[in-house]
Amino acid sequence: MDDDELLVCPRCATMHGLDERFCPDCGMPLTYQSPARDEATERQARARKIKPQYTEGDLVRVATGRNQAEADFISNLLLEEGVPSLVRRSRGFDVPDMLAAGPRDVLVPLSGEATAREVLLQVELHDSSASSPGPRPAKLFAGLLAGVALVGLIVWVGSLVSS
Ligand SMILES: [Zn+2]
Repeated sequence: MDDDELLVCPRCATMHGLDERFCPDCGMPLTYQSPARDEATERQARARKIKPQYTEGDLVRVATGRNQAEADFISNLLLEEGVPSLVRRSRGFDVPDMLAAGPRDVLVPLSGEATAREVLLQVELHDSSASSPGPRPAKLFAGLLAGVALVGLIVWVGSLVSS
């Protein structure tokens, strides 16, 4: 094996020398080939952050990322609060073409669910206040539904009173 070939293309997995920055075939930015012991160290570092009280119970879904990267981002946020999580492909997207894409479910142990939701809530609040000043369409729609339900309730109460 050539000692110069220390970079690897994340897409096609071919090896390249340190003088290359991008894969000549795919144009992907090359990454350093990580020796197995680095991965073990990273796993240990992650394991140290996990709080034992958040590892109990069945796995429950707390979020869905639009892709692996987003799910990993959520997973890392949760880990910062000591909540371990599992990222897996959302059901119905188990086709080979979607391996790299497609939504991912983020699952946490039941004992970590409350903390996980708190973390996610903070992220969501931060996102919505930063991106758009008005209510988002989904929230607006939910508000409309609630309004319709309220009107229905008033009509129902009204009919009870008049009968
Ligand atoms: Zn490549």
